Amino acid sequence: MSGNTCASDGCLLSPYDRSGLCILHSYDPEKDATSFNKALEDKIARGKTADTIDLKYVVFPVVFNWSSKDPRNTVTFQGAWFLEPANFDAVVFFKEVDFRDAIFFEGASFIKAQFLAKANSSGATFCGHACFPEANFADATFYGAGFSGTANFRKTKFSGAADFRRVDFGQGADFSQSTFHSSLRLRHAILPTRTPARLNFRDVTLMEPAKVLFDTVDFAQASFLRTDVSEVRLVDVKWPHEEESWVTDVFGKTTALYDYRVLLKKECNRDEPWFEGRKRSNVSGFNLVGDTYRQFRMNLEDHRRHIEAGDFHVGEMEMRRLNPETHLLYRGLLWLYGLAANYGESYVRPLIAWFALAALFGALYLLTGFKWFGEKQIAYTFGPGSLGDFLADWLRAWLSAIATPPLPGPDFKPLGFWTSFWRVWNAVFNAAFISLTLIALRRRFKR
Ligand SMILES: [Zn+2]
Repeated sequence: MSGNTCASDGCLLSPYDRSGLCILHSYDPEKDATSFNKALEDKIARGKTADTIDLKYVVFPVVFNWSSKDPRNTVTFQGAWFLEPANFDAVVFFKEVDFRDAIFFEGASFIKAQFLAKANSSGATFCGHACFPEANFADATFYGAGFSGTANFRKTKFSGAADFRRVDFGQGADFSQSTFHSSLRLRHAILPTRTPARLNFRDVTLMEPAKVLFDTVDFAQASFLRTDVSEVRLVDVKWPHEEESWVTDVFGKTTALYDYRVLLKKECNRDEPWFEGRKRSNVSGFNLVGDTYRQFRMNLEDHRRHIEAGDFHVGEMEMRRLNPETHLLYRGLLWLYGLAANYGESYVRPLIAWFALAALFGALYLLTGFKWFGEKQIAYTFGPGSLGDFLADWLRAWLSAIATPPLPGPDFKPLGFWTSFWRVWNAVFNAAFISLTLIALRRRFKR
């Protein structure tokens, strides 16, 4: 503390409080608003004749309205504290603007603001709602910024790079109808994983999708309806799945995107227009969500990530099966295909079906009669004798049912019409399930 100038670096104003800070830099929330505004006006006026309007570490005790519109100089609010709401609506920043490490304790409003040069908000903290709808950024950096309220970027235009790495969107982020002309980096970002907050990425226009990166983010509550995501880069993205366990790992799982869960009423959100009404007749919902699944599948297939792509393939087929526009016969076939092989993604299901059905056919052979390696005739009427003999015979019948022609198997001679009848159907089902197993195995392991 030098005595006659402010303790804040480079500030020439006289000290105002005990810590030696001037009226602008004093942290006292009760400081005199009239003298503060007077000092602020002077500071801005001086900045306009210099290169930079320097409002570094200024503590704004009252609602701040950027009155001197359209600054043609560089502006810095680095480390500034806005104790009350800050309003920058429709302001045009002709030169760079710096909000690094600034703290907005209440709302921050930048509706229709124009950032014609770089806008750097790295490390800024937005405690209230942050509103940037219809703003226009030439080059936006929000690296490490934190949003405790909602982050509203609706219809926002990003003409240059948009850097959202390490951003914490605690209450969700709304990028709907925004346009990204160049790169977007959403890396190590913290997104809400609980309902109802979410990442709203609907109706977004991506002019250079290959420059759009989602890296190390959780998409539990993310929506991409009507946004073309087939070419964006996806690195270490965490996809939501329905009840993950070893059972779903073995039997096949679906990526359960947020919109899929809302559409199928597995998650309720009254903010969603399709929450009302019956799910069965929601044709556009099935089309839209199906389209999102298809694009993510294509994206993952292009990058040879076939296992993840498979989970999206299941979701895509589910949407087609449930869609009332799909022909009833085709829906029936899809249902069977989904049940038997998880739409070609599970080899465990058809394998188990093959063996289980063979046990059933085996039981039928016991009743209709057969000859095993030319041995005695095996044919049961109700009321079997010894349990051991019965089980041994059933095992013979089961083995015969697992290996129907054209597979090599035990020497099996049907006794009479009904054994042959079931034998034919046994062979048909075996062919179907063996094919499904092979198809799924190939899908999983060929690549
Ligand atoms: Zn000062």
